[in-house]
Amino acid sequence: MKEKIYTIPVNDAFARSDACPVCTLENTLNQQLLDYYLGASLMEPDVRQTTNEKGFCRDHLKQLYNREINRLGLGLMLHTHMVDLVDDIGPELKGSMSSEKASFFSGRKKDYKQMLKLAAERIEARAKSCVICERTGQTMERYLDVIFYEFSENVAFRDKFKSVNGFCLPHLALLLRGAAKYLNQKQAAAFVSELTQIQNRCLETLRDDVEWFTLKFDYRNHDKSWKNSKDALPRSIGKLRGESDLK
Ligand SMILES: [Zn+2]
Ligand SMILES: [Zn+2]
Repeated sequence: MKEKIYTIPVNDAFARSDACPVCTLENTLNQQLLDYYLGASLMEPDVRQTTNEKGFCRDHLKQLYNREINRLGLGLMLHTHMVDLVDDIGPELKGSMSSEKASFFSGRKKDYKQMLKLAAERIEARAKSCVICERTGQTMERYLDVIFYEFSENVAFRDKFKSVNGFCLPHLALLLRGAAKYLNQKQAAAFVSELTQIQNRCLETLRDDVEWFTLKFDYRNHDKSWKNSKDALPRSIGKLRGESDLK
């Protein structure tokens, strides 16, 4: 039996049959982490140590800000993060990259290009670094482990799995990678057989819905029913690129 803190959300996400269940898991987790970092935890020293060091990526900074709660807390967290940042990359920007003596550019040094690239890489790494993305990645890995365990061991879960309405393409790939990692050959054959049936059914239906959406623009179809095609564009965008809040 796997830990309940992972088993319950996985079962809940697969019980809802509309969106990609892995997107549902990811979105729920994302909201919980946004709440966590804007909540009481942001004054805890060990939390602040990681937010100072890692900060948040662009998407998560926007999401934290757009919550419109605890702007003071966000301000305090950003301030100490920026103190850390200025101490870390400040000397590099001020000293080595200026035109002063002993910088990359003084004398006949040929390695200035390499030095500039390394400085850029270090700054890019800091710009991308995100404590929420990191924790999401770790928890999603636990969820993946649980999905495969439940699929192989729990008949009720397998029934839920069979009734979902397909996965987005990024998570379809994630599940195939996960199957290679967590399942033996026999288990993987059973899993991939179910997965491909679900996915083909989903994509074929979407393909036909999008086609009918376009055909409805033909005046000869004007009076015909939209069938299930009114929201075919947003549904296909979701399935093609993911329904996750993170992207
Ligand atoms: Zn998804
Ligand atoms: Zn992030």
